[in-house]
Amino acid sequence: MTPAFDSTAPTEPALAYLPPPACIGVLGGGQLGRMLAQTAQTLGYTVAVLDPDANAPASSLSEHFLCVDYSDDAGLTALSQVAERVTTEFENVPAMTLERLARELGVSPSAACVRIAQDRVLEKTTIQACGLPVAPFWGIESHADLAHVPAQLFPGILKTTRLGYDGKGQVVVPNAQALPGAFALLQASPDGAPTACVLEKKLPLQAECSVILARSEGGACVHLPVQVNQHHQGVLFSSTVFPGWVDPGLEQTLQNAAQTLAQALNYVGVLCVEFFILDDANATAPWVVNEIAPRPHNSGHHSLNSCSMSQFELQLRVLVGLPLTPVAQHSPCVMLNLLGDLWWDPSAVRTNASNAPQEPDWWRLLALPGTHLHLYGKKEARRGRKMGHLNITADTPEAVMNTVAQCLALLGLESLGLGVAPRLGPTRTAWDSPTHGVP
Ligand code: ADP
Ligand code: MG
Repeated sequence: MTPAFDSTAPTEPALAYLPPPACIGVLGGGQLGRMLAQTAQTLGYTVAVLDPDANAPASSLSEHFLCVDYSDDAGLTALSQVAERVTTEFENVPAMTLERLARELGVSPSAACVRIAQDRVLEKTTIQACGLPVAPFWGIESHADLAHVPAQLFPGILKTTRLGYDGKGQVVVPNAQALPGAFALLQASPDGAPTACVLEKKLPLQAECSVILARSEGGACVHLPVQVNQHHQGVLFSSTVFPGWVDPGLEQTLQNAAQTLAQALNYVGVLCVEFFILDDANATAPWVVNEIAPRPHNSGHHSLNSCSMSQFELQLRVLVGLPLTPVAQHSPCVMLNLLGDLWWDPSAVRTNASNAPQEPDWWRLLALPGTHLHLYGKKEARRGRKMGHLNITADTPEAVMNTVAQCLALLGLESLGLGVAPRLGPTRTAWDSPTHGVP
Protein backbone atom coordinates (compact mmCIF):
# COMPACT_ATOMS: atom_id res chain seq x y z
CA MET A 1 0.00 0.00 0.00
CA THR A 2 1.27 3.44 -0.85
CA PRO A 3 1.12 6.08 1.87
CA ALA A 4 -1.43 8.91 2.01
CA PHE A 5 0.72 12.07 1.90
CA ASP A 6 -1.95 14.56 2.76
CA SER A 7 -2.03 14.16 6.51
CA THR A 8 -3.74 17.54 6.82
CA ALA A 9 -6.96 16.21 5.26
CA PRO A 10 -9.83 17.25 7.51
CA THR A 11 -12.19 14.70 9.00
CA GLU A 12 -15.28 16.90 8.52
CA PRO A 13 -16.20 17.37 4.85
CA ALA A 14 -14.85 20.73 3.73
CA LEU A 15 -16.47 20.54 0.31
CA ALA A 16 -20.07 19.59 1.01
CA TYR A 17 -22.62 20.67 -1.62
CA LEU A 18 -22.70 24.44 -1.92
CA PRO A 19 -25.55 25.75 -4.07
CA PRO A 20 -25.35 28.80 -6.37
CA PRO A 21 -25.15 31.79 -6.24
CA ALA A 22 -22.34 31.21 -3.72
CA CYS A 23 -19.01 32.83 -4.52
CA ILE A 24 -16.03 30.78 -5.72
CA GLY A 25 -12.55 32.22 -5.12
CA VAL A 26 -9.83 31.65 -7.70
CA LEU A 27 -6.14 32.29 -7.04
CA GLY A 28 -4.78 33.43 -10.40
CA GLY A 29 -6.66 35.17 -13.18
CA GLY A 30 -4.90 33.75 -16.24
CA GLN A 31 -6.69 31.77 -18.94
CA LEU A 32 -7.29 28.81 -16.64
CA GLY A 33 -8.87 31.04 -14.02
CA ARG A 34 -10.91 32.75 -16.72
CA MET A 35 -12.30 29.50 -18.17
CA LEU A 36 -13.11 28.25 -14.67
CA ALA A 37 -14.87 31.56 -13.90
CA GLN A 38 -16.90 31.30 -17.11
CA THR A 39 -17.93 27.76 -16.23
CA ALA A 40 -18.82 28.71 -12.65
CA GLN A 41 -20.95 31.59 -13.91
CA THR A 42 -22.72 29.28 -16.36
CA LEU A 43 -23.72 27.14 -13.38
CA GLY A 44 -24.98 30.17 -11.48
CA TYR A 45 -22.05 30.82 -9.16
CA THR A 46 -20.32 34.14 -8.65
CA VAL A 47 -16.56 34.48 -8.83
CA ALA A 48 -13.81 36.33 -6.95
CA VAL A 49 -10.40 36.35 -8.64
CA LEU A 50 -7.16 37.27 -6.88
CA ASP A 51 -4.22 38.15 -9.12
CA PRO A 52 -1.43 40.74 -8.80
CA ASP A 53 -1.78 41.60 -12.52
CA ALA A 54 -4.47 44.23 -13.09
CA ASN A 55 -4.83 43.02 -16.70
CA ALA A 56 -5.22 39.32 -15.85
CA PRO A 57 -7.59 37.67 -18.37
CA ALA A 58 -10.15 36.77 -15.68
CA SER A 59 -10.15 40.23 -14.08
CA SER A 60 -12.77 41.78 -16.34
CA LEU A 61 -15.40 39.06 -16.05
CA SER A 62 -15.24 38.15 -12.36
CA GLU A 63 -17.75 39.74 -9.98
CA HIS A 64 -14.95 40.52 -7.50
CA PHE A 65 -11.36 41.21 -8.50
CA LEU A 66 -8.61 41.54 -5.90
CA CYS A 67 -5.46 42.95 -7.45
CA VAL A 68 -2.97 41.95 -4.75
CA ASP A 69 -0.03 39.62 -4.28
CA TYR A 70 -0.76 35.96 -3.47
CA SER A 71 0.54 36.36 0.07
CA ASP A 72 -1.03 39.76 0.78
CA ASP A 73 -2.64 39.38 4.19
CA ALA A 74 -5.41 41.96 3.73
CA GLY A 75 -6.16 40.61 0.25
CA LEU A 76 -6.50 37.06 1.54
CA THR A 77 -8.77 38.25 4.34
CA ALA A 78 -10.92 40.04 1.76
CA LEU A 79 -11.03 36.89 -0.37
CA SER A 80 -12.11 34.72 2.55
CA GLN A 81 -14.85 37.23 3.40
CA VAL A 82 -16.37 37.23 -0.07
CA ALA A 83 -15.73 33.62 -1.24
CA GLU A 84 -16.98 30.40 0.32
CA ARG A 85 -14.61 28.02 -1.51
CA VAL A 86 -11.17 28.61 -3.02
CA THR A 87 -9.18 26.93 -5.76
CA THR A 88 -6.04 27.83 -7.67
CA GLU A 89 -5.33 28.06 -11.36
CA PHE A 90 -1.59 27.56 -11.06
CA GLU A 91 0.77 25.59 -8.88
CA ASN A 92 3.13 28.35 -7.86
CA VAL A 93 0.77 30.08 -5.49
CA PRO A 94 2.50 29.95 -2.07
CA ALA A 95 1.41 26.77 -0.28
CA MET A 96 1.15 28.88 2.90
CA THR A 97 -1.62 30.88 1.23
CA LEU A 98 -3.67 27.74 0.63
CA GLU A 99 -2.98 26.56 4.18
CA ARG A 100 -4.16 29.85 5.59
CA LEU A 101 -7.33 29.93 3.48
CA ALA A 102 -8.11 26.29 4.35
CA ARG A 103 -8.40 27.27 8.03
CA GLU A 104 -11.49 29.28 7.15
CA LEU A 105 -12.86 27.90 3.86
CA GLY A 106 -13.09 24.76 1.76
CA VAL A 107 -9.96 24.69 -0.44
CA SER A 108 -9.02 22.40 -3.32
CA PRO A 109 -6.37 21.30 -4.10
CA SER A 110 -4.67 21.04 -0.70
CA ALA A 111 -1.52 22.94 0.18
CA ALA A 112 0.24 19.59 0.73
CA CYS A 113 -0.40 18.44 -2.85
CA VAL A 114 0.43 21.81 -4.41
CA ARG A 115 3.71 21.84 -2.48
CA ILE A 116 4.68 18.53 -4.12
CA ALA A 117 3.99 19.86 -7.62
CA GLN A 118 6.06 22.99 -6.94
CA ASP A 119 9.33 21.11 -6.50
CA ARG A 120 10.53 18.76 -9.23
CA VAL A 121 12.65 16.66 -6.85
CA LEU A 122 9.88 16.26 -4.28
CA GLU A 123 7.47 15.53 -7.14
CA LYS A 124 9.67 12.75 -8.57
CA THR A 125 10.40 11.13 -5.21
CA THR A 126 6.69 11.21 -4.38
CA ILE A 127 5.76 9.62 -7.72
CA GLN A 128 8.40 6.92 -7.11
CA ALA A 129 7.05 6.33 -3.61
CA CYS A 130 3.67 5.62 -5.23
CA GLY A 131 5.33 2.80 -7.22
CA LEU A 132 5.38 4.64 -10.55
CA PRO A 133 8.45 5.08 -12.80
CA VAL A 134 10.10 8.45 -13.50
CA ALA A 135 13.13 9.43 -15.63
CA PRO A 136 16.44 8.80 -13.81
CA PHE A 137 17.39 12.06 -12.06
CA TRP A 138 19.84 13.72 -9.71
CA GLY A 139 19.21 16.79 -7.56
CA ILE A 140 21.89 19.52 -7.75
CA GLU A 141 21.64 22.16 -5.05
CA SER A 142 25.07 23.75 -5.27
CA HIS A 143 28.31 23.76 -7.28
CA ALA A 144 29.69 21.11 -4.96
CA ASP A 145 27.03 18.65 -6.15
CA LEU A 146 28.09 18.94 -9.81
CA ALA A 147 30.97 16.50 -9.41
CA HIS A 148 28.75 13.70 -8.05
CA VAL A 149 26.29 13.40 -10.94
CA PRO A 150 26.26 9.81 -12.32
CA ALA A 151 27.69 9.52 -15.83
CA GLN A 152 24.69 7.51 -17.07
CA LEU A 153 22.43 10.60 -16.79
CA PHE A 154 24.04 12.11 -19.92
CA PRO A 155 22.80 13.33 -22.30
CA GLY A 156 20.42 14.99 -19.89
CA ILE A 157 18.16 17.96 -19.35
CA LEU A 158 18.94 20.30 -16.48
CA LYS A 159 15.81 21.92 -15.04
CA THR A 160 15.32 24.42 -12.24
CA THR A 161 13.65 22.58 -9.37
CA ARG A 162 11.05 25.29 -8.96
CA LEU A 163 9.10 27.74 -11.13
CA GLY A 164 9.77 26.20 -14.57
CA TYR A 165 6.95 26.09 -17.12
CA ASP A 166 6.51 25.78 -20.88
CA GLY A 167 10.10 24.57 -21.22
CA LYS A 168 11.47 27.66 -19.43
CA GLY A 169 14.27 27.08 -16.93
CA GLN A 170 15.62 24.08 -18.87
CA VAL A 171 18.90 23.41 -20.69
CA VAL A 172 19.92 20.32 -22.64
CA VAL A 173 23.26 19.00 -21.33
CA PRO A 174 25.01 16.72 -23.85
CA ASN A 175 27.78 15.54 -21.50
CA ALA A 176 29.36 15.97 -18.06
CA GLN A 177 31.73 18.68 -19.33
CA ALA A 178 28.75 20.87 -20.29
CA LEU A 179 27.09 20.58 -16.87
CA PRO A 180 28.83 23.45 -14.98
CA GLY A 181 28.04 25.86 -17.85
CA ALA A 182 24.39 24.75 -17.93
CA PHE A 183 24.11 25.12 -14.13
CA ALA A 184 25.61 28.64 -14.37
CA LEU A 185 23.07 29.51 -17.08
CA LEU A 186 20.13 28.65 -14.81
CA GLN A 187 21.42 30.67 -11.85
CA ALA A 188 19.04 33.58 -11.53
CA SER A 189 19.02 34.54 -7.88
CA PRO A 190 20.18 38.16 -7.41
CA ASP A 191 21.49 37.43 -3.91
CA GLY A 192 23.88 34.77 -5.23
CA ALA A 193 22.16 31.88 -3.45
CA PRO A 194 22.31 28.83 -5.73
CA THR A 195 19.19 28.02 -7.76
CA ALA A 196 18.48 24.34 -7.10
CA CYS A 197 18.25 22.21 -10.22
CA VAL A 198 17.57 18.63 -11.20
CA LEU A 199 19.35 16.78 -13.99
CA GLU A 200 17.13 14.28 -15.78
CA LYS A 201 18.29 11.73 -18.26
CA LYS A 202 17.10 12.78 -21.73
CA LEU A 203 14.87 9.91 -22.75
CA PRO A 204 14.03 8.82 -26.30
CA LEU A 205 10.35 9.67 -26.60
CA GLN A 206 7.90 7.88 -28.84
CA ALA A 207 5.07 10.13 -27.68
CA GLU A 208 3.84 12.32 -24.86
CA CYS A 209 0.47 11.68 -23.25
CA SER A 210 -1.49 13.17 -20.39
CA VAL A 211 -4.35 12.04 -18.20
CA ILE A 212 -6.64 14.53 -16.52
CA LEU A 213 -8.74 13.27 -13.66
CA ALA A 214 -11.00 14.73 -11.04
CA ARG A 215 -11.23 13.27 -7.57
CA SER A 216 -13.89 14.31 -5.09
CA GLU A 217 -13.48 14.71 -1.37
CA GLY A 218 -15.28 11.39 -0.96
CA GLY A 219 -12.77 9.64 -3.27
CA ALA A 220 -14.91 9.35 -6.43
CA CYS A 221 -12.70 9.57 -9.51
CA VAL A 222 -13.54 10.37 -13.14
CA HIS A 223 -11.21 11.16 -16.01
CA LEU A 224 -10.97 12.59 -19.50
CA PRO A 225 -9.81 10.38 -22.39
CA VAL A 226 -6.01 10.16 -22.77
CA GLN A 227 -4.52 13.08 -24.72
CA VAL A 228 -1.57 12.63 -27.09
CA ASN A 229 0.43 15.85 -26.94
CA GLN A 230 2.91 17.42 -29.33
CA HIS A 231 5.29 20.15 -28.19
CA HIS A 232 7.22 22.75 -30.16
CA GLN A 233 10.17 24.45 -28.47
CA GLY A 234 9.03 23.20 -25.06
CA VAL A 235 5.47 24.58 -25.43
CA LEU A 236 2.40 22.44 -26.06
CA PHE A 237 1.50 22.70 -29.74
CA SER A 238 -1.43 20.30 -30.05
CA SER A 239 -3.42 17.61 -28.27
CA THR A 240 -4.98 14.80 -30.25
CA VAL A 241 -7.94 13.03 -28.69
CA PHE A 242 -9.36 10.40 -31.02
CA PRO A 243 -11.19 7.40 -29.54
CA GLY A 244 -9.06 4.29 -30.16
CA TRP A 245 -5.98 6.35 -31.12
CA VAL A 246 -4.09 5.05 -28.10
CA ASP A 247 -3.72 1.31 -27.60
CA PRO A 248 -6.50 0.35 -25.12
CA GLY A 249 -4.05 -1.48 -22.84
CA LEU A 250 -1.80 1.56 -22.65
CA GLU A 251 -4.74 3.91 -22.17
CA GLN A 252 -6.01 1.85 -19.25
CA THR A 253 -2.54 1.62 -17.74
CA LEU A 254 -2.00 5.38 -17.86
CA GLN A 255 -5.43 6.06 -16.38
CA ASN A 256 -4.77 3.56 -13.61
CA ALA A 257 -1.39 5.15 -12.90
CA ALA A 258 -2.95 8.63 -12.64
CA GLN A 259 -5.62 7.27 -10.32
CA THR A 260 -3.03 5.47 -8.17
CA LEU A 261 -1.21 8.75 -7.71
CA ALA A 262 -4.38 10.70 -6.87
CA GLN A 263 -5.45 8.12 -4.31
CA ALA A 264 -2.04 7.87 -2.68
CA LEU A 265 -1.90 11.67 -2.33
CA ASN A 266 -5.50 11.80 -1.11
CA TYR A 267 -5.77 14.36 -3.89
CA VAL A 268 -9.00 16.37 -4.11
CA GLY A 269 -9.52 18.40 -7.29
CA VAL A 270 -8.49 18.20 -10.94
CA LEU A 271 -5.08 16.62 -11.49
CA CYS A 272 -3.11 16.33 -14.73
CA VAL A 273 -0.45 13.62 -15.00
CA GLU A 274 2.00 13.95 -17.91
CA PHE A 275 3.59 10.77 -19.27
CA PHE A 276 6.50 10.07 -21.60
CA ILE A 277 5.95 7.00 -23.79
CA LEU A 278 9.45 5.69 -24.45
CA ASP A 279 10.94 4.70 -27.75
CA ASP A 280 13.34 2.22 -26.24
CA ALA A 281 12.76 -1.52 -26.48
CA ASN A 282 15.25 -2.12 -23.64
CA ALA A 283 13.71 0.24 -21.11
CA THR A 284 12.65 -1.32 -17.82
CA ALA A 285 9.29 0.43 -18.15
CA PRO A 286 7.74 1.47 -21.49
CA TRP A 287 6.62 4.78 -20.00
CA VAL A 288 7.48 7.15 -17.16
CA VAL A 289 5.57 9.90 -15.38
CA ASN A 290 7.04 13.27 -16.38
CA GLU A 291 5.27 15.65 -14.04
CA ILE A 292 1.95 16.51 -12.45
CA ALA A 293 -0.16 19.67 -12.45
CA PRO A 294 -2.62 20.19 -9.56
CA ARG A 295 -5.20 21.94 -11.78
CA PRO A 296 -6.79 21.88 -15.22
CA HIS A 297 -4.15 21.65 -17.94
CA ASN A 298 -3.62 23.05 -21.42
CA SER A 299 -3.86 19.50 -22.82
CA GLY A 300 -7.43 19.23 -21.46
CA HIS A 301 -8.81 22.27 -23.29
CA HIS A 302 -10.31 19.99 -25.96
CA SER A 303 -12.88 18.89 -23.37
CA LEU A 304 -14.70 22.24 -23.81
CA ASN A 305 -15.92 20.99 -27.21
CA SER A 306 -15.32 17.23 -27.31
CA CYS A 307 -16.69 15.86 -24.05
CA SER A 308 -19.87 15.75 -22.01
CA MET A 309 -18.09 17.77 -19.31
CA SER A 310 -15.08 20.07 -19.49
CA GLN A 311 -12.09 19.94 -17.15
CA PHE A 312 -13.26 23.30 -15.74
CA GLU A 313 -16.66 21.91 -14.85
CA LEU A 314 -14.88 19.01 -13.16
CA GLN A 315 -12.82 21.47 -11.13
CA LEU A 316 -15.95 23.40 -10.17
CA ARG A 317 -17.91 20.25 -9.31
CA VAL A 318 -15.23 19.06 -6.88
CA LEU A 319 -15.03 22.50 -5.32
CA VAL A 320 -18.77 22.91 -4.72
CA GLY A 321 -19.42 19.26 -3.89
CA LEU A 322 -21.46 18.44 -6.99
CA PRO A 323 -21.46 14.79 -8.13
CA LEU A 324 -18.74 13.58 -10.50
CA THR A 325 -20.46 11.68 -13.30
CA PRO A 326 -18.43 9.77 -15.93
CA VAL A 327 -17.14 11.96 -18.76
CA ALA A 328 -18.08 10.74 -22.24
CA GLN A 329 -16.30 11.93 -25.37
CA HIS A 330 -18.82 12.79 -28.09
CA SER A 331 -16.45 14.09 -30.81
CA PRO A 332 -12.92 13.29 -31.93
CA CYS A 333 -10.90 16.46 -31.43
CA VAL A 334 -7.57 18.15 -32.01
CA MET A 335 -6.65 21.20 -29.93
CA LEU A 336 -4.19 23.68 -31.43
CA ASN A 337 -2.57 26.31 -29.20
CA LEU A 338 -2.62 29.84 -30.59
CA LEU A 339 0.58 31.64 -29.56
CA GLY A 340 1.29 35.35 -29.89
CA ASP A 341 3.66 34.62 -32.79
CA LEU A 342 0.57 34.42 -35.01
CA TRP A 343 0.11 38.17 -34.51
CA TRP A 344 3.40 38.80 -36.36
CA ASP A 345 4.22 35.97 -38.72
CA PRO A 346 2.85 36.08 -42.24
CA SER A 347 0.06 33.60 -42.70
CA ALA A 348 -3.10 33.33 -44.71
CA VAL A 349 -5.22 34.45 -41.76
CA ARG A 350 -3.39 37.76 -41.65
CA THR A 351 -4.54 40.37 -44.09
CA ASN A 352 -1.05 41.84 -44.50
CA ALA A 353 2.43 41.17 -43.18
CA SER A 354 3.87 44.09 -41.28
CA ASN A 355 6.03 44.51 -38.22
CA ALA A 356 3.20 45.72 -36.02
CA PRO A 357 1.21 43.00 -34.23
CA GLN A 358 -2.06 42.38 -35.96
CA GLU A 359 -5.09 40.31 -34.92
CA PRO A 360 -5.26 37.24 -37.14
CA ASP A 361 -8.32 37.21 -39.37
CA TRP A 362 -10.32 34.57 -37.52
CA TRP A 363 -13.11 34.77 -40.11
CA ARG A 364 -11.37 32.31 -42.45
CA LEU A 365 -10.65 29.78 -39.71
CA LEU A 366 -14.18 29.93 -38.40
CA ALA A 367 -15.56 29.43 -41.90
CA LEU A 368 -14.34 25.81 -41.59
CA PRO A 369 -16.95 23.48 -40.06
CA GLY A 370 -16.06 22.15 -36.59
CA THR A 371 -13.65 24.93 -35.57
CA HIS A 372 -14.17 26.34 -32.07
CA LEU A 373 -12.14 29.42 -31.19
CA HIS A 374 -11.26 30.26 -27.57
CA LEU A 375 -9.41 33.55 -27.04
CA TYR A 376 -8.29 34.57 -23.58
CA GLY A 377 -8.79 38.33 -23.85
CA LYS A 378 -5.09 39.14 -23.35
CA LYS A 379 -4.58 42.77 -24.23
CA GLU A 380 -1.08 42.41 -25.65
CA ALA A 381 0.22 39.71 -27.98
CA ARG A 382 3.79 38.58 -27.35
CA ARG A 383 5.79 35.88 -29.05
CA GLY A 384 5.41 32.61 -27.17
CA ARG A 385 2.45 33.94 -25.15
CA LYS A 386 -0.62 31.70 -25.07
CA MET A 387 -3.35 33.89 -26.57
CA GLY A 388 -5.98 31.22 -27.13
CA HIS A 389 -6.64 27.79 -28.57
CA LEU A 390 -8.62 26.30 -31.39
CA ASN A 391 -10.58 23.09 -30.91
CA ILE A 392 -11.36 21.18 -34.09
CA THR A 393 -14.10 18.57 -33.99
CA ALA A 394 -15.93 16.45 -36.57
CA ASP A 395 -17.77 13.14 -36.80
CA THR A 396 -14.64 11.15 -37.64
CA PRO A 397 -10.88 11.46 -36.98
CA GLU A 398 -10.31 11.63 -40.75
CA ALA A 399 -12.59 14.65 -41.04
CA VAL A 400 -10.82 16.31 -38.08
CA MET A 401 -7.43 15.65 -39.72
CA ASN A 402 -8.66 17.23 -42.91
CA THR A 403 -9.77 20.39 -41.12
CA VAL A 404 -6.59 20.50 -39.02
CA ALA A 405 -4.53 20.49 -42.23
CA GLN A 406 -6.56 23.42 -43.56
CA CYS A 407 -6.22 25.32 -40.26
CA LEU A 408 -2.46 24.78 -40.12
CA ALA A 409 -2.15 26.07 -43.69
CA LEU A 410 -4.23 29.15 -42.87
CA LEU A 411 -2.14 29.78 -39.74
CA GLY A 412 1.13 29.31 -41.65
CA LEU A 413 2.15 26.45 -39.35
CA GLU A 414 2.09 23.48 -41.72
CA SER A 415 5.87 23.43 -42.27
CA LEU A 416 6.41 22.37 -38.63
CA GLY A 417 5.03 18.93 -39.46
CA LEU A 418 2.99 18.94 -36.24
CA GLY A 419 -0.74 18.92 -35.56
CA VAL A 420 -2.28 15.47 -35.39
CA ALA A 421 -0.20 13.07 -33.26
CA PRO A 422 0.51 9.66 -34.83
CA ARG A 423 -1.58 6.74 -33.61
CA LEU A 424 -0.10 4.94 -30.58
CA GLY A 425 -1.03 1.54 -31.88
CA PRO A 426 -0.48 -1.81 -30.18
CA THR A 427 3.04 -2.27 -31.44
CA ARG A 428 4.50 -3.15 -28.05
CA THR A 429 3.07 -5.98 -26.02
CA ALA A 430 4.92 -4.64 -22.95
CA TRP A 431 2.26 -1.95 -22.69
CA ASP A 432 -0.14 -4.46 -21.24
CA SER A 433 2.09 -5.17 -18.27
CA PRO A 434 4.29 -2.20 -17.44
CA THR A 435 6.90 -2.60 -14.77
CA HIS A 436 6.35 -0.16 -11.95
CA GLY A 437 10.03 0.37 -11.21
CA VAL A 438 12.55 3.06 -11.88
CA PRO A 439 14.28 2.45 -15.24
P1 ADP B 1 7.44 22.12 -18.18
O1 ADP B 1 7.21 22.22 -16.71
O2 ADP B 1 8.06 23.32 -18.78
O3 ADP B 1 6.23 21.60 -18.93
P2 ADP B 1 8.61 19.51 -18.73
O4 ADP B 1 9.46 18.80 -17.73
O5 ADP B 1 7.26 18.95 -18.98
O6 ADP B 1 8.58 21.04 -18.28
O7 ADP B 1 9.42 19.60 -20.09
C1 ADP B 1 8.91 20.23 -21.25
C2 ADP B 1 9.11 19.32 -22.44
O8 ADP B 1 10.51 19.01 -22.62
C3 ADP B 1 8.45 17.96 -22.30
O9 ADP B 1 7.08 18.02 -22.65
C4 ADP B 1 9.28 17.12 -23.27
O10 ADP B 1 8.91 17.40 -24.60
C5 ADP B 1 10.69 17.65 -23.04
N1 ADP B 1 11.38 16.89 -21.97
C6 ADP B 1 11.39 17.20 -20.67
N2 ADP B 1 12.07 16.30 -19.93
C7 ADP B 1 12.50 15.37 -20.80
C8 ADP B 1 13.27 14.16 -20.66
N3 ADP B 1 13.74 13.75 -19.46
N4 ADP B 1 13.56 13.45 -21.77
C9 ADP B 1 13.11 13.86 -22.98
N5 ADP B 1 12.38 14.98 -23.19
C10 ADP B 1 12.07 15.75 -22.11
MG1 MG C 1 5.32 19.74 -18.85
